[in-house]
Amino acid sequence: MTAYGLASLLRRQWIRDFFELYSYTNGGTMAKCEVCGNEYYLSFEVIAAGNRHVFDSFECAIHRLAPVCSHCGCRIIGHGIEGKDTFFCCANCAAQEGVKGAVDHVRDDVTNLTI
Ligand SMILES: [Zn+2]
Ligand SMILES: [Zn+2]
Repeated sequence: MTAYGLASLLRRQWIRDFFELYSYTNGGTMAKCEVCGNEYYLSFEVIAAGNRHVFDSFECAIHRLAPVCSHCGCRIIGHGIEGKDTFFCCANCAAQEGVKGAVDHVRDDVTNLTI
């Protein structure tokens, strides 16, 4: 068996396992993504704030569920920064909206770097 053949086999096994898990939780039916409308057998559910959502990809889940930075408007898909009762994507955006003390990195940690 070639390396490509093994990778292909492993990928199919992973998809099969994923599908069985999905089938177990959803009665074996295809589920339609609530963002793009794609009916896909690898769709998955997310429960957020008590509401059930169905997506065919993480991209669609982020589009619907991720908070938006109150300064630049980008989707926050990491930890983000919480300040002034809202969310920001990074310390720079938080600082530009008047949040004090937020940092993305500690300056002392990078002073000895040689590039
Ligand atoms: Zn979708
Ligand atoms: Zn931002």
